[in-house]
Amino acid sequence: MINVLFSALPARWDVYGPALNEAFTEAELNVALSTDHPPETVDYIIFAPNGPVSDFTPYTGCKAVLGLWAGVETVVGNPTLTQPLARMVDVGLRDSMVEWVAGHVLRHHLGMDAHIVNPDRIWNPQAAPLARERRIGILGLGELGTACGNALAALNFDVAGWSRRPKTIAGIECFDGNAGLDAMLGRSDMIVLLLPQTAETENLLNADRLARLPRGAVVINPGRGPLIDDEALLAALDDGQVGHATLDVFRIEPLPPEHPYWDHPRVTVTPHIASTTRPDTSARVIAENIRRSEAGEALLHLVDRRAGY
Ligand code: NAP
Repeated sequence: MINVLFSALPARWDVYGPALNEAFTEAELNVALSTDHPPETVDYIIFAPNGPVSDFTPYTGCKAVLGLWAGVETVVGNPTLTQPLARMVDVGLRDSMVEWVAGHVLRHHLGMDAHIVNPDRIWNPQAAPLARERRIGILGLGELGTACGNALAALNFDVAGWSRRPKTIAGIECFDGNAGLDAMLGRSDMIVLLLPQTAETENLLNADRLARLPRGAVVINPGRGPLIDDEALLAALDDGQVGHATLDVFRIEPLPPEHPYWDHPRVTVTPHIASTTRPDTSARVIAENIRRSEAGEALLHLVDRRAGY
């Protein structure tokens, strides 16, 4: 019997419990799934940062911690975590991010706002340029950034992306390194931030880098709030250097009611909804990782603790 502890928001148990048990049965794993196994008996922890476990010390027999979230910034530096940590890579998480990013890119590309709210009944028959004339830059070419880049390229957008290590992706012009970032920013009418939050990426989008964007560029951030220097972004919005910012993630969530982003006429706030782990598909990812671990195979989606993602 494999003892698996579910440590996420208690409210998620009702949907995750059945989905996980079904996935374990499908994978022919003999699992006892619970929210309260005695720590020393636990073989695997299914983990969300907002669940009850934050000290991994008592889980002396735990073979791996299997995250339900894509972002690991709140757990990767936990000194009590000595077990391997896998993060969530899930088709549902990926597809919802692609849909959110494509929707917000198309909103700005087509200038939809002018027609959705038009109290003065202005008849302005100016058509949008074609997608191939619109340059999109994606910061982060991982699971989500690459999927979004591919989807936007399939819509004919002129897509570039930036990553830590050099990459070659058909249909996406790939940049890396500091010089690559500057070059990519300079050619991006819209940028989409899909980087993890690490020591290296915090405040990455600062005043200097915002100034490198073409004037009036759009910033779309479904990555993490601390990727952006908020003061610098507000200044760039006020000055017109940034035409609009669509922000899904913030340093403090929920975004405090007094935060200037709420009132800014050129900011759209969405409440961290770009993408979420889906119980049915993510349960299969968890089951596959337990199957692998039990069979002595390498875990999928292992976090590089030194890189922080
Ligand atoms: P991932 O597969 O780990 O990809 C991360 C990408 O960022 C990689 O391309 C990586 O480069 C690049 N990167 C990391 N550090 C960098 C640096 N210092 N300089 C340049 N590039 C760097 O992550 P993912 O699954 O795509 O997820 C990305 C982020 O999306 C998550 O970390 C999370 O914060 C966020 N997210 C948000 C939501 C939401 O609802 N808003 C939902 C899910 C995820 P390499 O390819 O060279 O490693």
